[in-house]
Amino acid sequence: MSPAERRERALSLLNHVFGYSSFRGQQAEIVDRVTAGGDAVVLMPTGGGKSLCFQIPALLRDGVGVVISPLIALMHDQVQALQAVGIRAEFLNSTQSAQERASVERAYVNGDLDLLYVAPERLNSGSTVDLLHRGKISLFAIDEAHCVSQWGHDFRPDYLSLNSLAEQWPDVPRIALTATATAATRTEIVERLSLTDARVFVSSFDRPNISYRIVNKAAVRAQLVSFVTKEHAGEAGIVYGLSRNTVEKTAEYLRAAGVDAVAYHAGMEASERARVQSRFLREDGVVVVATIAFGMGIDKPDVRFVAHIDLPKSVEGYYQETGRAGRDGLPSEVWLAYGLQDVVQQRRMIEQSNGDFAHKRAQTLHLDAMLALCETTECRRKGLLAYFGETLTEPCGNCDTCTNPPEVWDGTIPAQKLLSTVFRLKNERNQTFGAGQVIDILRGKENARSTQSRHQELSTWGIGADLSDQQWRGVVRQLLARQLLASHGDYGVLVLTEGSVEVLAGRMQVSLRHEPLRAERPARAESVRGAAAEDLTDEQTQMFESLRAWRATEARSQGVPAYIVFGDATLRACAIQLPTTLEELRGISGIGDQKLERYGEAVLEALSAG
Ligand code: ADP
Ligand code: ZN
Repeated sequence: MSPAERRERALSLLNHVFGYSSFRGQQAEIVDRVTAGGDAVVLMPTGGGKSLCFQIPALLRDGVGVVISPLIALMHDQVQALQAVGIRAEFLNSTQSAQERASVERAYVNGDLDLLYVAPERLNSGSTVDLLHRGKISLFAIDEAHCVSQWGHDFRPDYLSLNSLAEQWPDVPRIALTATATAATRTEIVERLSLTDARVFVSSFDRPNISYRIVNKAAVRAQLVSFVTKEHAGEAGIVYGLSRNTVEKTAEYLRAAGVDAVAYHAGMEASERARVQSRFLREDGVVVVATIAFGMGIDKPDVRFVAHIDLPKSVEGYYQETGRAGRDGLPSEVWLAYGLQDVVQQRRMIEQSNGDFAHKRAQTLHLDAMLALCETTECRRKGLLAYFGETLTEPCGNCDTCTNPPEVWDGTIPAQKLLSTVFRLKNERNQTFGAGQVIDILRGKENARSTQSRHQELSTWGIGADLSDQQWRGVVRQLLARQLLASHGDYGVLVLTEGSVEVLAGRMQVSLRHEPLRAERPARAESVRGAAAEDLTDEQTQMFESLRAWRATEARSQGVPAYIVFGDATLRACAIQLPTTLEELRGISGIGDQKLERYGEAVLEALSAG
């Protein structure tokens, strides 16, 4: 195949099989490289379009494309989505019966497949390797390639054996793909998978369709309910919490508010977890409240929001989790509620963890970076991308600090009052207290403890009555976030740091964010229209909803996830362009030959009925 011919055929597959008009970002280059037989390492954010980078070369090259993926629970859906556009895809994993496996193996050996998905552990078995040698392989795609990194969060020992692919099949091109961005992971992938001759394709990790918002935690469940019901009614989303208990309680609370919410955590039976996952994928508008055990590789494209009700432990984790929103490129929102208690709790967890000094040090650095993102007065996206070594020259205009710039004020004097109270308690009384009592002292608020400990006699008693309780909590939180104050132990008692001394001595100014009285963004709270319908007129929204209803019925009757029928982006385009003929429908993104034939008439009917 000449290079020109290669490009032409790739584009034709993109149009006819997948129904898309043009390649995105580096897709065309990657497809070309792999189709020509070269190796590639692809770093692209979630939703960037990694799948096409190996699917199209597999269709263009002779033989079967072997895809290694750790996500056994999702293989079935992945294969179904491919079959829905007419690609001959199958999988081999432990969930199949011997009979099913035998039939897939036969199809593979006969070359009757385009793509074969295989779990990594199968490649450790001699019989699978023998089987693979009996067929012709067009390429190896190693999905979620960061699983080979021993320092990363998703390490899978089976991935280490994948370096033998290069020796056993020296002429078969290999493409490794991941959405994990750090340079360290990238280096490990290249080394451990013997990909030193591969071309590395690094995309920008920006997700422009995701809007970022971080609010002050007050009554977090009520805040969450307001966010979900007022801004994302009827839409699919993920809520992340730290503990099983929080997750279960929050799901209950959301259900009581009429949200179709389900809990998901590692303490649940595997079958129960699979059921939740399948509901989330198959039904419209399910909200999963989960610990971080949920989400890797879930390629549901229409997750409209991701909410965090506890502070994530690192920016990297936050990026991965929020990245699950808006794979389809439509406007999506991520929302994090965080407060003083989060800082105290996370510092305590690090302090009490049984790692060595270096480990605790690393965790502290991760937490500090996360806190800096929470407390920044600059564009959040700028801070987020800077963490991954990317520079955004202009503020993004699509995060809370851009749309609603926080005011800053000189908090040096309040900070000194507070630190001085902590100092006096320790030095004059040999006492330590948590934030609540220290704030009561500053505000001159009597309670049983202040009477018992004669706090009224302290020289700082009542000197902070000019600030509200909430404002003081903001001061404490921000000082803790910047290590100008520290907290220790189960009760989060406050203690001074080296930085505190600088502030007390007047050698350091402390500029603080104003605590908004209302944590919510008022303009948005009025709107009940979901993000996927954002920017649509009322008629278009109505049309979009009636198409969604048609899709739900269709998906249910086939027993497949709704997005396998059509993605939101496609339905949205239909609602805007209102095609009236099959020819017009053909021009809409996401409608290839197979889907046009299968659903074309029905969509036109739903459109004219709507
Ligand atoms: P990733 O695996 O990188 O997270 P996917 O391969 O699942 O991303 O693609 C994300 C979404 O973008 C999917 O809905 C996919 O169909 C769509 N997509 C991918 N490439 C294109 C393209 N060139 N044009 C339009 N849509 C695309
Ligand atoms: Zn911004």
